[in-house]
Amino acid sequence: MAETIFAKIIRKEIPADIVFESDTVLAFKDINPKAPVHILIIPKITELESAKDINSKEYASLLADLFLTANEVAKKLGVYESGFRLVINSGADSGQEVPHLHIHLLGGRKLTWPPG
Ligand code: AMP
Repeated sequence: MAETIFAKIIRKEIPADIVFESDTVLAFKDINPKAPVHILIIPKITELESAKDINSKEYASLLADLFLTANEVAKKLGVYESGFRLVINSGADSGQEVPHLHIHLLGGRKLTWPPG
């Protein structure tokens, strides 16, 4: 699997504005935010390129960690009550740019639906 910029962020080889870190998960501010709150929540393992690679219950605990982190970060950044959106782009048609599974947490403004 090709090295991604997120792997470098996990290893602290390039800087990121980290808002949460655990043994399994890292959450940091998106460098090109699409909303006042735009956080990327990623697993530290690099084997999952996108949601389509979640092909086994072996990932259940990791997925729980990712979504628990999303809720904690939403609370920390003040959008838990006002509302927020979690997005996982997977593959070319979704517009996924970085082939390392990540959840976008977007909030802080009224978000439109449907997405483009
Ligand atoms: P996606 O299009 O779903 O693959 O989203 C990738 C996201 O990563 C985009 O929203 C980018 O703005 C963001 N991104 C790319 N490089 C960095 C970086 N070095 N630090 C933080 N966010 C980044």
